[in-house]
Amino acid sequence: MKTGLPRVARDIPYTKGLHRITRHCAAWLVPDGTWGWSNAGLITGEGESLLVDTLFDVPMTREMLDGLAGPLARNPLSTVVNTHANGDHWFGNQLVAEAEIIASAPTAEEMRTNGPELIRGLLGQEGAAGRFARHIFEPFDFGSITPTFATRTFTGSLRLEVGGTAVEVHCLGPAHTAGDSVVLVPDEGVLYAGDLLFIGGTPITWAGPVSNWIAACDAMLAMDVEFIVPGHGPVTTKDGVRQVRGYLEWVRDEAAERHRKGMTPEDAMRDITLGRYAALDERGRLAQNVLAVYYELDPAMERVDTREVFRRIAELEGFS
Ligand SMILES: [Zn+2]
Repeated sequence: MKTGLPRVARDIPYTKGLHRITRHCAAWLVPDGTWGWSNAGLITGEGESLLVDTLFDVPMTREMLDGLAGPLARNPLSTVVNTHANGDHWFGNQLVAEAEIIASAPTAEEMRTNGPELIRGLLGQEGAAGRFARHIFEPFDFGSITPTFATRTFTGSLRLEVGGTAVEVHCLGPAHTAGDSVVLVPDEGVLYAGDLLFIGGTPITWAGPVSNWIAACDAMLAMDVEFIVPGHGPVTTKDGVRQVRGYLEWVRDEAAERHRKGMTPEDAMRDITLGRYAALDERGRLAQNVLAVYYELDPAMERVDTREVFRRIAELEGFS
């Protein structure tokens, strides 16, 4: 870690490891930000610390904790916040089980059905979906995970004090998942956004509604922050929030137009031209985003299960 603090977000290089942001805030960045390569955050107070998320498997989380050993030796970990229930943000919890583990109530509930067995089920599939799942998840170790759940839940917002540093946790979901939380350090203008922000990659609306994710973007834009750590990708600013908001508005309009024409979600995803979003990683996530818009327009529509969603994503990514 370099000495001296970054003046602006783009001063922080997108390289693996610990990056100090402000006096009390740091990020553990994990390029390249695609499936499973997620970021975490560290807030250090006087004599204690708060970790925002663990990583996708035990070895990666152990490597991170080793990398944070310096600040954690002075300010031991007292609190972990899991921003949401996707495994790349909590499968390493067993290594921090001595801390209080906080999640929003919907996230704590969703973790119960988002354990490693879900991933193992995807890996074991036949055909293109299985090949695609093995392609993206092969680097990770799902064999040594003991699901370790939240020990404290909240609804709405939670105010904490971490060794004299004020921390706010706000649940802005459902959006990406059932209960997406962000962690704000108001005195230092730092926001940890979890997967409400994918920078350089395509957002994926597992839970929706998309309209609430757009509202979550507006809530983040209203915060007084200079540095925003996304769940995936480099440290960003409100420009990054505006980019994600733009994608969500675009996909909502494109899918809604095809819903009006009576197209099926599969036909709609094949019909949409990505245009300026073709350069984002994981373009196949369009499959799930179209479904989320259809569910919002037609709440009675039967939900497509995750395995079939992966088949559609694989199709859009050219895994046939
Ligand atoms: Zn993630």
